[in-house]
Amino acid sequence: MQAVMLRDVEVMRPRTLDEALRLLDRAHREGVRLRPMAGCTDVLVDAHFGKALPERFLDVWGLRKELGGLRWTEAGLVIGATCTYAEALETPKFVAELPALAKAASQVGARQIQARGTFAGNVENASPAADAAPMLLALDAQVKLASLQGVRTVPLLNYWSGYRQTVRRPDELITAIVVPAAALGSQGQWFRKVGTRAYQAITKVGLASRLQWQGGKLVDVRLAAISMAATPKRCATLETYLKGRELATIDAAELRHAQAVDLQPIDDVRSNATYRAEVFARLVEQALRETHLATAH
Ligand SMILES: Cc1cc2nc3c(=O)[nH]c(=O)nc-3n(C[C@H](O)[C@H](O)[C@H](O)COP(=O)(O)OP(=O)(O)OC[C@H]3O[C@@H](n4cnc5c(N)ncnc54)[C@H](O)[C@@H]3O)c2cc1C
Repeated sequence: MQAVMLRDVEVMRPRTLDEALRLLDRAHREGVRLRPMAGCTDVLVDAHFGKALPERFLDVWGLRKELGGLRWTEAGLVIGATCTYAEALETPKFVAELPALAKAASQVGARQIQARGTFAGNVENASPAADAAPMLLALDAQVKLASLQGVRTVPLLNYWSGYRQTVRRPDELITAIVVPAAALGSQGQWFRKVGTRAYQAITKVGLASRLQWQGGKLVDVRLAAISMAATPKRCATLETYLKGRELATIDAAELRHAQAVDLQPIDDVRSNATYRAEVFARLVEQALRETHLATAH
């Protein structure tokens, strides 16, 4: 392993989004890999561990005027591609409307990482152990991509195509992540990560979810698993099993059976499959109890 010296890396610093898209387009046509970088909290770790790096980087940090901040629109909350966790956590409306996403953001690394790390970087990094991205998945968020060919919107549900892979084309840039209006302030948002300590811990197993109860029954269920598959993953079988049920009719063995159809966790340096499966089932049970209790009041 050999760490890459930063002086060996060529970085391009566009002043506008248009210029950034032109640079990406040209590099794509010339067959040169031009990788975006925002807060660099993942990119620099890759460089440190000597992973194969592209020839050039495109630094989008300077595009904060066009890609920064949070914007509430009719469609929902637009989280700009350079919006950091710290920026979001300093916005009371964000914390009030998206409490579980705020909790996830507040547990990414520690303060220093939160000051640089972006939601868009977390999504594009496509780690199965990411914290904010799975919560965005449970909120039905969408990724906005721009290129010289135009703009397209991809639901997060279809964004990760495999381990550390996304459907973004090399000539595209994420401009924002959009949380739909229906999810803002919605009932039953719930997040918990399990790691070796409270901060600076990569998630061994975690659950990002949205559980909506009406008249004692679960009417809407979204469960996104962390560190349980090759990507952050929605649990379709488990969601179908739970939908329409009252808390008292949820059977622990049936729940685990449905979960096993969706998720086959692996053993790795951080944990093992048996631990992950059992802790995940308990997180689902905890989320069900706590969100049910919250709606009863
Ligand atoms: C000490 C430490 C602790 C950490 N702890 C956690 C943790 O607890 N939980 C967690 O989830 N993560 C953690 N991380 C990982 C990291 O902080 C997050 O994934 C962060 O959100 C990445 O954002 P960034 O802006 O720094 O991304 P960058 O490092 O700049 O980029 C990450 C990836 O996204 C791409 N990218 C960035 N912006 C764009 C764009 N606009 N369009 C297209 N592609 C783009 C880059 O090319 C790269 O592939 C940790 C990292 C460190 C160093």
